Amino acid sequence: MDNYNRRFGRKLNVLICILLLSIIGLIYYYFIVNQSFNGYKHVIIIGVDGAGMAFEKVSSPNIDRIFSNYALRHDTKTENITYSAQNWGSILTGVACETHKYTNDSISEKTHYSTGILSIFGYVRKAIPDANLVSIVDWKSINNGIVENDIGVNLINHNSDLEVLNASVDYLSKNDIPTLMFIYFGSADISAHKNGGFSNEYYNTLETIDEYIGKIYDVLDSKKQLKDTLFMVVADHGETVTSHGGNSKEETSAILAVAGNSVNKTNFDAETHNRDAAPIVLYALGIDIPDNFVAKVPNGLFKESN
Ligand SMILES: [Zn+2]
Repeated sequence: MDNYNRRFGRKLNVLICILLLSIIGLIYYYFIVNQSFNGYKHVIIIGVDGAGMAFEKVSSPNIDRIFSNYALRHDTKTENITYSAQNWGSILTGVACETHKYTNDSISEKTHYSTGILSIFGYVRKAIPDANLVSIVDWKSINNGIVENDIGVNLINHNSDLEVLNASVDYLSKNDIPTLMFIYFGSADISAHKNGGFSNEYYNTLETIDEYIGKIYDVLDSKKQLKDTLFMVVADHGETVTSHGGNSKEETSAILAVAGNSVNKTNFDAETHNRDAAPIVLYALGIDIPDNFVAKVPNGLFKESN
């Protein structure tokens, strides 16, 4: 009997050892390995209507300082139709313009609810029920016709870029940083329609927007929130001398810039689209990319997924 007990005791010790090692292994996995990517708590995405690749042509010290160590390409691909609704639609839904079928008229006339094609706001709301979602624009159609109006997104409409800037800085200063915040500046496109896409007035507007982008970024910095925030700038389309909507290189090129703790320094590859902004947002917040997306997270964008 003594022999039996000793053998049993040894077996028990071995079992306890295995159990302890397993527990240590699990703890190591969850607290050490998993910590290499905890995701971001906040995504701020700034949309600049009509910027195309023109930030490259102007003095843009803020875009330079924010993104020079991260990811930036001035000429990512736009949708085939270089109008605003087609492109903001794709940037905010991750599907092609032929799929969402939004037009400038349709998004102004038809209020969007979560019954149709979801925007990134809709996907974030589903995955993170208590997410704080904010969209501040000076082209009301985006908040009316692309973002869901029935899921508690704080939809804020203004009439100028300066108002949008002030509302954004005010919001970020006084509140917790939102889970997802879209900030839209429309004045560059308005200036291009009025003065032409290669005019000094247009370029001056972009320089002002660069200042605004810097001011928004600096609020996050002063609140020590950059560590947990993915910060992005994206354009819908570019401009020509007279208008846009065609297929010239200027019209079909758009800036996409991404800065964040785990973002690699990269120029993206030539196949990157402006609509890739949508899956980038979801990925950063730890949300699975929906099957219907044609947009994808560009290869090599994030360190942890290399
Ligand atoms: Zn336009």
